[in-house]
Amino acid sequence: MRRILVIGGGIAGVESALTLARGLSDDHVTLLTHSDVLRVMPDLVYVPTGVAAHRMEVPVRELLAAEPIDVVLGEVASIDLAEHVARVDTGDIAFDIVVVAPGAAPLPTSGLQLQTLDQAELVRDRLDEVFAGATAEDERASIVVRTCADDAWGPPAYEFVALLAARRCMLDVERLVSVTLVTAELQPFQWFEPHVADVVLEAFTGLGVELATGVPEARFDDIIGDVVVDFGRLEARHVPGLPGRDEHGWYATDSDGRVHADAFVVGDAACHPFKSAFAVAWQARRMLVALGGSLDSLGERVGDVPIDAIEHHVDLGTSTLRIRMPVDAKLHDPWLGHDATVHLDDAPPDRLAGLLVGVELTRAGGRSAAHAHRALVTRPGLPHLTAGRPRLASHPTP
Ligand SMILES: Cc1cc2nc3c(=O)[nH]c(=O)nc-3n(C[C@H](O)[C@H](O)[C@H](O)COP(=O)(O)OP(=O)(O)OC[C@H]3O[C@@H](n4cnc5c(N)ncnc54)[C@H](O)[C@@H]3O)c2cc1C
Repeated sequence: MRRILVIGGGIAGVESALTLARGLSDDHVTLLTHSDVLRVMPDLVYVPTGVAAHRMEVPVRELLAAEPIDVVLGEVASIDLAEHVARVDTGDIAFDIVVVAPGAAPLPTSGLQLQTLDQAELVRDRLDEVFAGATAEDERASIVVRTCADDAWGPPAYEFVALLAARRCMLDVERLVSVTLVTAELQPFQWFEPHVADVVLEAFTGLGVELATGVPEARFDDIIGDVVVDFGRLEARHVPGLPGRDEHGWYATDSDGRVHADAFVVGDAACHPFKSAFAVAWQARRMLVALGGSLDSLGERVGDVPIDAIEHHVDLGTSTLRIRMPVDAKLHDPWLGHDATVHLDDAPPDRLAGLLVGVELTRAGGRSAAHAHRALVTRPGLPHLTAGRPRLASHPTP
């Protein structure tokens, strides 16, 4: 029996603990978290558009009650890989394998940000003022969302823009309130295959979003509005004693997620370009296989998705883009040269990928926030992307 210690109570830590505990039943998994609640970060985009903030917080012990995982509260001061001990403020923990998921923190920008509940509520309050002024007083206003779409990972910004534009349509203030997306990418979703990027572009056009593409980050402050929200750069949180940082501070892992024979880094702190919940599920499954487990031990599928694939859902305000990739796709270049499939439909998205989708979280917070938002914006006359157009399902990428 190996003692596996997972550090960090964010999506990456919890998904890794779930995957390893279910897939390596002979080993013992401990999750160390500094907080009693898991914050469902992807749902933050729904707070400024009117969904209750409490939906974003899920009690972690309750969530994992049925799983063979010990949950321990504490903060790691350092890791000693020679002694195989984590120095924790609540008491040292010995391990054979350590999985570190400390996440990443945003760098300051001149606009508002959307990385914490407080920030999301501040953005909500500012937007409420704008929308109240437009509906009650016919006041004009401009909303600008900016993303450098690099270390920051742009899709949350694109989703946020679509959600805002859908809300604006619902309130019937399209003529008074402009929504502008400023991105360093030449086209939103440039990372993806061109036909995926085209779907997103069509969604923005249908929702009346103004686009400023290919804008260098250094020029972002030239484009401002009454409310400016930034999805800026991130930097990895560090854990003293953990090796393997690259020149930008990210933990440079091998393709299995290792930075050391007995240490893995998963989630936003790792050097891969996808700072996202779906990439976390992917990393966790590759780590399971690297530690001698098998994907089959996780069951055949999670919801509709086979266990050897991961789906990334993008909320386009009134439609959902679903992108499915095989787990054995390369993390650095997943959408090019692999059998990714894309699909567009009306059902609200799952906000997480992986095993977390299949546990209580789905009902407790994740799925319900997306459903609550869809109910808020749905009204006759709002553009529905899927109306009258063929689906994109099962288009293998070349
Ligand atoms: C607004 C927004 C929208 C998003 N939308 C999507 C989306 O639609 N789809 C998607 O796939 N992804 C989305 N993402 C990205 C996704 O939420 C992140 O990739 C994911 O939450 C990262 O998880 P993490 O566990 O790596 O980091 P975090 O969530 O930051 O968790 C890390 C945890 O580790 C703790 N920690 C750090 N150091 C220590 C220590 N020394 N000891 C103990 N604990 C420590 C931290 O306090 C924190 O709780 C979105 C993100 C944002 C901000």
